[in-house]
Amino acid sequence: MTAAPEQGRPVVFRNATVLTMDDAHQVLHDADVLIEGERISAVGQQLQVPAGTQELDAAGGIVMPGMIDTHRHMWQTAMRGYGADWTLTQYFVWNYLQWGKSFRPQDIYAGNLLSAIEAIDAGVTTTVDWSHNLHTIDHAEAAVDALTEIPGRFVLAYGNIQAAPWEWSAAPEFRDFVARRFSGGNDMLGFQIAFDVPPASPDFPEQAAFEVARDLNVPVTTHAGVWKVTTDEGIRLMHEHGFMNERTIYVHAASLSADSYHRIAATGGHASLSTESEQSAGQGYPPTWKLREHGIGVSLSMDTSVWWSADLFSAMRATLSADRAREHLEAHARDETVTHHKLRAEQVVDWATRGGARALGLDSVTGSLEVGKKADLILIKNDESPVMFPLLNPYGHVVFQAQRGDVHTVVVNGRVVKYDHKLVGSDLAKARSAIEQTVEYLRGVLGPEAWNDGMHPEIPETRVLDNPYTYTYTQD
Ligand SMILES: [Zn+2]
Repeated sequence: MTAAPEQGRPVVFRNATVLTMDDAHQVLHDADVLIEGERISAVGQQLQVPAGTQELDAAGGIVMPGMIDTHRHMWQTAMRGYGADWTLTQYFVWNYLQWGKSFRPQDIYAGNLLSAIEAIDAGVTTTVDWSHNLHTIDHAEAAVDALTEIPGRFVLAYGNIQAAPWEWSAAPEFRDFVARRFSGGNDMLGFQIAFDVPPASPDFPEQAAFEVARDLNVPVTTHAGVWKVTTDEGIRLMHEHGFMNERTIYVHAASLSADSYHRIAATGGHASLSTESEQSAGQGYPPTWKLREHGIGVSLSMDTSVWWSADLFSAMRATLSADRAREHLEAHARDETVTHHKLRAEQVVDWATRGGARALGLDSVTGSLEVGKKADLILIKNDESPVMFPLLNPYGHVVFQAQRGDVHTVVVNGRVVKYDHKLVGSDLAKARSAIEQTVEYLRGVLGPEAWNDGMHPEIPETRVLDNPYTYTYTQD
């Protein structure tokens, strides 16, 4: 491979299998994608290109839109893997009640910086930073500083678990921050308001926060349908007060009644599914099987690196498997056999790309490879891998065969940010040193005992069943 393409000159990917993810889901073989400036200027076979265009050999590879993660608590990447054995209850206790407040602005920065780099490395070109530990404006500034330092497309979903949403969203310094950092319509850095509607209070104090969102003309993203935490009651209150619309994002959307799904569908909202999270943490069974029935738009997300990583290949795989597992399970309960799957790999690739763009209101900007859209795309190609051939079923290949190590090149907004499996323009060493300082600080705050106890929750006793085949028979 040659050196990374120079910035500022057109780039053409040559001879790829191209998943356009346009409305017709066209798949082109031996096809090219031309990028000029920030945008895709041509998609097709044997393209004529302007003089000076840099040619990238994509033969044997797949070019597809960059993936979109619609819900990720990026600050928590500083605690990568720490809670691998947690349930949601342990997560809440650790982050909300015990230690979340210990995070300083520089710790939010460190987590976000690493998470942002990880996203683009994994081919995730747009990420929503569901940033719910912004307990001062300095924390919020730090979050945005990190997001603007890394050449990905981001959305800051502003939240604060340390105070009530109707309080922090009413603070003048919050409005000030939004005006200062989010004026001027920049599609590289969007804004949402992030809070939940637990059933604690029937007089719906969250109304004030929804009104702030309406006033600022920004979407609300909310953890909905989280088992025993956010329920049908929250959906009903939102709906009856007129705060559900096509820009609202319902994270998880599991454990809800048909009535709630009808309310979401009727108002055009989208779900953000974190299948691995729902499976492990306990929000409810990953609900694609329900969302499909109700005609609700699906996007994918990875939730938090306390358990998982920024890997949307993993999200696609888990989502397809969970949906199919449910279908088989329900059929078997009726003594039936599923002979044809309803959910296909193709649909899951759509959810990981276009579905995210639709959910974020960015469908005219990104999510598919079409002329005029911003150039957010990835090349999956790994000549050293025995898994890259034969390439027979491109959607199936993306979902069940490829992995993030196979992401060869990543382009965001026309700029090559990864090439030949190496990051371009992101300072991983800086992120490493920021993270080391954060981990050292948090370890000190917790002390060795709390640090260890937090990572290793007690294991409930499992009683091994009596086994009739291990009995010994004695004759008398
Ligand atoms: Zn979450």
